[in-house]
Amino acid sequence: MRYRGSCHCGAIQFQFEGPKITVGMGCNCSICRRKNAVLTNFTVPPEHMSIDVEGSALSSYEFGTKVAKHHFCNVCGIFTFVETRLNPGEYRVNLGCVEGINTFELSIEVYDGAAI
Ligand SMILES: [Zn+2]
Repeated sequence: MRYRGSCHCGAIQFQFEGPKITVGMGCNCSICRRKNAVLTNFTVPPEHMSIDVEGSALSSYEFGTKVAKHHFCNVCGIFTFVETRLNPGEYRVNLGCVEGINTFELSIEVYDGAAI
């Protein structure tokens, strides 16, 4: 399946390919529990992800081991996707940013990110 998404202001647009999305993933690590975002329960390799950014709107936040990159729009503040720590270079996408997905209708798998 091909999906398309964006931040709130539209400065970050992206498309990715993945399986049909029927479940979302919540993560209990120190940053995800603060964002309370619903993520893809699969990772997207870079060759299946295309990102189109207006100017320098894409910022990333790193902490701890600095492997994971939590990308967000520095214009509207919306977290769009993360490059994961366990699969560096691959992405989990914030499903709240994806067209056609209602995160309130998905069942949520909890990922024990606090334990890694
Ligand atoms: Zn934005």
